[in-house]
Amino acid sequence: MNCSGCGGEMEEIVVDDVTIDRCERCGGVWLDAGEADDLARRGPVSPADEMRRKKYELLRQWKTADDPRPTERVCPRCDEHLARVNYKQVPGLLVDKCPKDCGLYLDKGELEKIRLIDR
Ligand SMILES: [Zn+2]
Ligand SMILES: [Zn+2]
Repeated sequence: MNCSGCGGEMEEIVVDDVTIDRCERCGGVWLDAGEADDLARRGPVSPADEMRRKKYELLRQWKTADDPRPTERVCPRCDEHLARVNYKQVPGLLVDKCPKDCGLYLDKGELEKIRLIDR
């Protein structure tokens, strides 16, 4: 499978019993539909994470709008162009989502943010 971000080869890694695809070259991550929720459900793992999660909860009142412009990135499953969407109203967290709901593409570091979000 090829990375939506840089076209590099993605490899499967296991995070908390969930198998996801990660690009060695750019650190991007592909989550199939449902995997983001699987990971979020496992929740924060340390007190520092818990503090950050509370911070995100407070910031949530300032919503970030979806970005309607189509991206250059394509879905590794169906080749549709990904769209930028605001992940669960978390401020500043725009992720690339397949319009056919195959899954989400996350830039390096975004997976950590998703894992802090309460469902
Ligand atoms: Zn990449
Ligand atoms: Zn797709």
